[in-house]
This record gives sequence, structure tokens and C-alpha cells, in this order.
Amino acid sequence: MIKATTIEQVREAISQAREKLRQTNQQDGSNLIGFVPTMGALHAGHFSLIDTARRECGFVVVSIFVNPTQFGPNEDYERYPRPLEQDLAGCESHGVDLVFVPTVEQMYPAGFSTTVRVSGVTEMMEGQFRPGHFDGVCTVVAKLFSIVGADVAYFGAKDYQQAVVIKRMVADLNLPIRIVVCPTVREKDGLAMSSRNTYLNKHERAQAVSLYESLQLAEQLIRNGQRNAKEIIRAVRRHLAEHAPLGKIDYVAVVDPESLQPVDEIKDDVVVALAVRFPSARLIDNIRVDVKS
Ligand code: AMP
Repeated sequence: MIKATTIEQVREAISQAREKLRQTNQQDGSNLIGFVPTMGALHAGHFSLIDTARRECGFVVVSIFVNPTQFGPNEDYERYPRPLEQDLAGCESHGVDLVFVPTVEQMYPAGFSTTVRVSGVTEMMEGQFRPGHFDGVCTVVAKLFSIVGADVAYFGAKDYQQAVVIKRMVADLNLPIRIVVCPTVREKDGLAMSSRNTYLNKHERAQAVSLYESLQLAEQLIRNGQRNAKEIIRAVRRHLAEHAPLGKIDYVAVVDPESLQPVDEIKDDVVVALAVRFPSARLIDNIRVDVKS
């Protein structure tokens, strides 16, 4: 496994990998370069993306970069976990070919002045509660795509809105990369895996399970015929208020899976998404419910 800390090292390694892949000239995807951007503190959710990339591509790149521009001024940039040695060992054992660990100075040298801003799908949910967050995400992901030059990039459905935003950016900027969204990986009790779960104290951790429970409740209500989104939201909020009293609800939303616009009457395919702010960590989760399936 190659560990690169500079953009030049990445470009060099990628051009060599391309040359090798070209020589093998396979038709089964093994000539593709796959890319998994992360902020590190890797867990089974990240490794599921890496494993999918490993199965589908001939060369797998992971970036580990805690991107300062996607954190708000009162968020957890400073204390975000950075267990680099452990992450590198994890990448190695999952068969990653190249890990890119840039410094902040590599990514944002003096004079850096460009922001990639997607409108529309960034405005609701996370965008409303984390102003500027998606500008930071889009700018860094556009840069990483440009540096790595991969064919396919893998994102998690856990950050549903982020995946929609990235797809929009890729389409709008004609970036030559395919976006694959992989399912959310959960703890045994249903809590979506997140690097931020480690912040939770034992009381918060016990209550955090109710995020997924409330989403399952939403799914059950929809499958049982409830079509009124307001009723779904009310039921989810009630479940959270009762079972996660330490958490403050930022939002519960029932939205169209593509436009992310709120849905009033549920027809077929919707996403129910929520964010809950515990004293130690803000958690998000979502579920997609397609009544047709
Ligand atoms: P992060 O390191 O939190 O920026 O996440 C990097 C990538 O891993 C993003 O595409 C996330 O959506 C994805 N991811 C994070 N947690 C999970 C999870 N529990 N299941 C699946 N993908 C995840």
C-alpha cells in the first residue's frame, strides 16, 4: 500500500496504476480506479465502501482528510478523532492500494480563493442547520476528484443528502466520475455507524438507538398505508421525544429522494431523514421507503 501525503505523489502513483491497468486491458471493471473519500476514524461503514470499491475496481484509493472548511465555527473540527496509524492498518488489511493523507496546507495553500457551491439540494435539512457545510464538502470533493482522477467514487447512504449533492455537482460540472452510493452500515442495535458515535456517553448511546427505531416506525406506518407526511413526522418526533430526551431534534423530514423537496402526500418513494443533537454529538440518519418494493 502506498501512502501519499502530497498531490504530486498521488498523481505519480495514479499514472503508474493507469499504465498497469491499461496493459491488463480487462473488460470486467478491473481496469477502473475506485476512490473512497473519508475523514478517517474508519469504521465498518467506511470499510464497506472500501470493500465494494475493491470488488469493483482494479486500483483502490482512499483519502483521509479532516476537512476544516466543512465544519462550522462551533463544531468539532479540533476534537474530531484522528487515529491515523489504526486507519492505515485498516486500509492495508482491506486491500487499499493508495492512501492519500494530505495536510491542510496541501489542500488549502495560501491564497486559496475558490468555493464550489451547489444550490437547491443543499438548502434544506443539513444545509439549514450547518450553513456553509456543503460548500466545504463540495469544494474538497471537487479537489479530491481532480487530484485522484478516479473512474468511480463511493459514498454512504448514511449521509444521504451529501450523496445527492455530490451527484448534482458531478452532473453540473461534467466531472468524469461515476458516483456509487452504498447502504448504511449499522451497529447490532441499529445505530448508524459514525466516527462521532465515540463522543456519546453511555446515557446518550443508549438513547441514540431511538433514531433508527423512529425511522423504522416511519417505514412501518408508511407500509401500513399512512400517506400523510405530517403524520409520519409527528410520530417520529413523538418517538424521539419519549426515547431520546437527552437529544434535541434539529429536523425530521420526509422528502423526495432526488430533489429532496418536502413531500406532503407520500406516493411511492421517499426518504425520511432526521438529525438529533445530543450534548456530546450531533447524529443524523435516514431511511428510504419505496412503497412499490
Ligand atoms: P466521513 O468519514 O464521515 O466523511 O464518511 C466518509 C464516507 O463514509 C461518506 O461517504 C459517508 O457517507 C460514508 N459513511 C459514513 N458512515 C457510514 C455508515 N455507517 N454506513 C455507510 N457509509 C458510511
